[in-house]
Amino acid sequence: MDLSSAWQIREGVNAGRFSAVEVARTALARIEAADPVVRAFVTVEPEGVLARAAEVDRQARDSAVLPLAGVPVAVKDNLCTRDLRTTCCSRILQNFIPPYSATAVERMERAGAVVIGKANCDEFAMGSSTENSAWQTTLNPYDLSRVAGGSSGGSAVAVAAGMAALALGSETGGSVRQPASFCSVLGLKPTYGRISRYGLVAFASSLDCVGPFATNPGDLGLLLSVIAGHDPKDATSAPAPVQDYAGEMDCPVAGMRLGIPREYFGSGLDPAVRAIIEEALRNAGTLGCELVDVSLPHTEYAIADYYIIAPAEASSNLARYDAVRYGFRAPHAADLSEMYSRSRSSGFGAEVKRRIMIGTYALSSGYYEAYYGRAMRVRTLIKQDFDAAFGLVDALLAPVSPTPAFKVGERIQDPLSMYLSDIYTVTANLSGIPALSLPCGFTPEGLPVGLQVLAKRFEEATIFRFAAAYSRAFPLAPPPLKV
Ligand code: GLN
Repeated sequence: MDLSSAWQIREGVNAGRFSAVEVARTALARIEAADPVVRAFVTVEPEGVLARAAEVDRQARDSAVLPLAGVPVAVKDNLCTRDLRTTCCSRILQNFIPPYSATAVERMERAGAVVIGKANCDEFAMGSSTENSAWQTTLNPYDLSRVAGGSSGGSAVAVAAGMAALALGSETGGSVRQPASFCSVLGLKPTYGRISRYGLVAFASSLDCVGPFATNPGDLGLLLSVIAGHDPKDATSAPAPVQDYAGEMDCPVAGMRLGIPREYFGSGLDPAVRAIIEEALRNAGTLGCELVDVSLPHTEYAIADYYIIAPAEASSNLARYDAVRYGFRAPHAADLSEMYSRSRSSGFGAEVKRRIMIGTYALSSGYYEAYYGRAMRVRTLIKQDFDAAFGLVDALLAPVSPTPAFKVGERIQDPLSMYLSDIYTVTANLSGIPALSLPCGFTPEGLPVGLQVLAKRFEEATIFRFAAAYSRAFPLAPPPLKV
């Protein structure tokens, strides 16, 4: 059974051609074979999965058509799943079992999806390679010496290696698009507020989004339609109507105006990635799209801006891990303050501590205006760049990451070089707009490259229309997986 199409699985289960239990057994068998090599999952409970699949089979027999009937989904370990361990890949939440599920997870399950397991990520989603996970590093299924990207690397690999048909990840600054690009799957960062953040463990609240992964635009649209929309439990979720994204896909793209931001094609762009992206731009031209040169002049400040705002908000959000109410508590402390400091010192990893220190510094009295206040004003300039560009074009095309997947260990000792891999992605987070990574080629070494498609706030449908037309016209022939 092929797990690469959520549509086919749902059609088969709804029509009774095969059962959700059979689908779940196939996914579990694939996980058993491939996951010891790529290490995408941190928690899989086969008994619970099969019981849940049996429940979906009963519902499919009794009632109406379920939009995600029996579809196996991997869920990033920073999204709460009721009664299923959720650690954020941090020692401080080692044994945390949430009493509730994230709204995105709950909506998916109501639609018949089966959570197949929890996917590895960088600790509290801070990182670009999963090397900051307290548990393991996820490997790239196209080259086992390389990273899968991050922070949602486990989610991307679960889909890329055929262990789940769909996955949920999260984005604060590129964590869905970058691993999607490294692993040749589709990954969407939706408009801020498009999907409820309820139950997504907070990193930087003004940036955090839940983001879906899939192997094709139809499946991605299906998943987004199910999980998007207003949620009374998240005051930042938007009341904007949810479109039928999968239904948008037959619309023509001829005449669409596509902006090419010149700042995304500077000297830091790897030549092999550049060649593939430039070919993708020519391909878009042959579909009748009009390519327009545009400028996003404040792009060069985006990394500095993001790496003030995200740590500042993280330092505040992570104050809740006090070892009192839940999570890890260091034993044998003499008093309360020693209990706090010992628990937090051994519960958090190095990168999380670095962010807490940077963020606390940036927010401290006397520095707040110089750092955080200023960063917020730069954020407005970056947003205005996009507003101006979208006055001229319907969407933007750009690379996702300046390089293909890098080697495990190559950047982990050098936080700055790790941060720089986010140069083309953090801008969409800072400005709140939707952006997709669409697989568009492989380097001569066989490493995947994603094309980034960005649109106006709440214009996900434009992205889907382009992605569907492009992938229909230019199907990829991927090299074989190494698992
Ligand atoms: N690499 C970015 C960071 O480390 C992205 C994180 C994210 O999007 N969750 O902050």
